[in-house]
Amino acid sequence: MHSSPSKATQSRFRLTFLGAAGTVTGSRYLVEAGACRVLVDCGLFQGYKALRLRNRAPFPVEPGSIDAVILTHAHLDHSGYLPRLVESGYRGPVWCTPATRDLCGILLPDSAQLLEEEAGYANLKGSSRHHPAEALYTAEQAHRCLRQLRPVAYRETFEPVPGLVATLFPQGHILGAASVALEFQGTRLVFSGDVGRPHDLVMNPPSPPPESDWLVVESTYGNRRHAGAALDEEIEQALSPVLARGGVVIIPAFAVGRAQLLLHAVISLQAKGRLPAVPVYLNSPMASDVTALYERYKAEHRLTHQDLDLIRKVTRVVNSVDESKALNRRHGPMIIISASGMLTGGRVLHHLIAFAPDHRNAIVLSGHQAGGTRGAALAGGATHVRIYGEDIRVKAQVIAISSASAHADADELLDWIRGLGRSPRAVFITHGEPDAADALRLRIEHELGWCACVAEQMQSVDLMMPVADGDPAAQMHDAGRSPPHESTIGQDQ
Ligand code: ZN
Repeated sequence: MHSSPSKATQSRFRLTFLGAAGTVTGSRYLVEAGACRVLVDCGLFQGYKALRLRNRAPFPVEPGSIDAVILTHAHLDHSGYLPRLVESGYRGPVWCTPATRDLCGILLPDSAQLLEEEAGYANLKGSSRHHPAEALYTAEQAHRCLRQLRPVAYRETFEPVPGLVATLFPQGHILGAASVALEFQGTRLVFSGDVGRPHDLVMNPPSPPPESDWLVVESTYGNRRHAGAALDEEIEQALSPVLARGGVVIIPAFAVGRAQLLLHAVISLQAKGRLPAVPVYLNSPMASDVTALYERYKAEHRLTHQDLDLIRKVTRVVNSVDESKALNRRHGPMIIISASGMLTGGRVLHHLIAFAPDHRNAIVLSGHQAGGTRGAALAGGATHVRIYGEDIRVKAQVIAISSASAHADADELLDWIRGLGRSPRAVFITHGEPDAADALRLRIEHELGWCACVAEQMQSVDLMMPVADGDPAAQMHDAGRSPPHESTIGQDQ
């Protein structure tokens, strides 16, 4: 551990929000327990340029001073900074579920490859202002950090640092996703991670939160309700007219979870004759590896062996870059599912360049589009998107479907929070755009009568403070005004 504890620090239990405050990306929470430091989630910032630049800034806490990392799940906005953290000196264990470890083994090297490809492409085109553009991390660095992953089963307690007892609970959402309960000297803090949906077509429902003194909850859909229609109906209505007119359907999708859900929905509709049997391409190098993980972690989802078999047989997996380019010369009708889900990078950008200018085609947005991303621009009716320094005209139809989300909507979130049973001292709301976070805060206060506040970047809260001190929200804001303590974490990035 990084320092010898004084009496004052022995009983310290403090939470600092290092990310996912006022935004849906960059999940990073610092928990100080005694003299030790634990980082819960180690995500990339995505979306607005000002946010992405935070990935380049020095980490707000000296990485070598962190004693343990715990990941809620493998999505890059929760795990994608890990290679850089390790590169900057983090040497400790990274606790996560076995499926999260396996998914990180696929996702992090892929993320590095995309970052490297983008940097290479930017250099080729001269579209980067940094000369030369450098990837945030390399595939080699991504592979190196994987050695530090320590799998631990759901509901099995472990002690990441002395005196701090941790437990991971299944959360639906994607394979391996967990909420994290931390207990230190009788005080308990729970992180929701990303909350899955009670009636997802593929994933199991999230388990209710364990009783807790403090809760940190995501709010991606804190102000929205998913469509009442079932996902298969929504997809049938969106895709049928496009395929009937010979169009190409581009579905940007997160490669883990979302892609499999969409494949399952599309292929089941084709099998039932509700969609024409046009070719279905999955243009993501890691796709078949991820589908294999669904076989390994059968207990975490609802897909049968037959469902998985059908997906494997029908899906045309695009592996090489040459195959990906060849796809852009093909004509519709066809369906292409490709990452990334918010059009922030990846091979889907080349499909956009090829197919967006044709009005017969369609771009089907299937999940939350963070502000500042091309996906959000398209959802907002943009007629052009900028890709590799060029403006691409968008004449293709843009359709947003909402029932493919792997996140609980506002009602489902509130139901999940209600599952705590007794009222916590406070609920901290993170991982949402400001509107969504504040809407959830109001509902928690009005419908549950609990104290809730929207977390702000770099704010700290003392989790051991006496109850008599009253309003944790006020206490938190005080902490936000003064540097939290002696280290570098008081400096904003
Ligand atoms: Zn997630």
